[in-house]
Amino acid sequence: MDAMVLEEQKKPLVLRKVPLPHISANQLLIKLTACGVCRTDLHIIDGELTQPKLPLIPGHEIIGKVVDTGSAVTHLKIGDVAGVPWLGYTCGKCKYCLRGQENLCESVGFTGYTIDGGYAEYAAANEQYCFPIPPIYNNPSGAPLLCAGLIGYRCYSMINKNAINFGIYGFGAAAHILIQVAISQGKKIFAFTRDRDIDAQQFALQLGAAWAGGSSEIPPEKLDAAIIFAPVGSLVPKALRDLDKGGIVVCGGIHMSDIPSFPYDILWEERSIQSVANLTRKDAEQFLTIAPKVPVKTEVTTYKLTDANKALSDLRNGNIHGAAVLVMD
Ligand SMILES: [Zn+2]
Ligand SMILES: [Zn+2]
Repeated sequence: MDAMVLEEQKKPLVLRKVPLPHISANQLLIKLTACGVCRTDLHIIDGELTQPKLPLIPGHEIIGKVVDTGSAVTHLKIGDVAGVPWLGYTCGKCKYCLRGQENLCESVGFTGYTIDGGYAEYAAANEQYCFPIPPIYNNPSGAPLLCAGLIGYRCYSMINKNAINFGIYGFGAAAHILIQVAISQGKKIFAFTRDRDIDAQQFALQLGAAWAGGSSEIPPEKLDAAIIFAPVGSLVPKALRDLDKGGIVVCGGIHMSDIPSFPYDILWEERSIQSVANLTRKDAEQFLTIAPKVPVKTEVTTYKLTDANKALSDLRNGNIHGAAVLVMD
């Protein structure tokens, strides 16, 4: 099969012919329809996330058809449409797994990082970490739900249900999905983009944001919660300053530049800072139930598998509305 392979960090991906993945008893062989391109893929390629499997097939937002199943597979069958997210394996035995925090598992496996992922025509995936995909998402528009959607939803679920005013900092793939869920639940969204990124601000307003502006601007109302998707540490004290008493800043990215020091009084009055790591299968089940009811519609820019490096550079340069998705034929 064709695959776009990371052979060495800090180098572009290379197109290679590789053998079809071999599946074990608990695995599915999936023929890909599409795979989303996530900022985490950039962090892996750029070396900000260390020690990936090498050579590696990146990609952790997989939509495809099951074409073969291992002997112990019980839930999904040949012909089903499956989604594969970032969380690819957990041990089920460590203290984190036992207390319902499998996202923090000590022996965790991540799709497209420590396990080969979806920048390829086929992928093998552990059945217990795959999800049946609602029919409306059996196409490229479904791919961003598998990470941008899930991580955004996990960030959202960290916030007090009574919060109304939500700031979202960094208006890309995750934000454009989360805003739809949040508005459907009566939240008021304040969207922060790169300064002077009028296109992204218009996009946020079209999706129903109450206000959109540059990340250095002061929002017209105090926020109950702030979710930071941009990998920019200086946004943490900025968001704290935008918060009302008792508010929370949730950092949704896996990597962020250093956070500058800040005075205690912007944290005082029970403001808090929370990071979000990975996802649990429960998050995925909840989100994939909610998404078709909203219904969440994703905006995608599609690329051929062989154009993965172009998709990555467009993402790096902020040239994408919504989400970048590789489409296989
Ligand atoms: Zn574990
Ligand atoms: Zn991701």
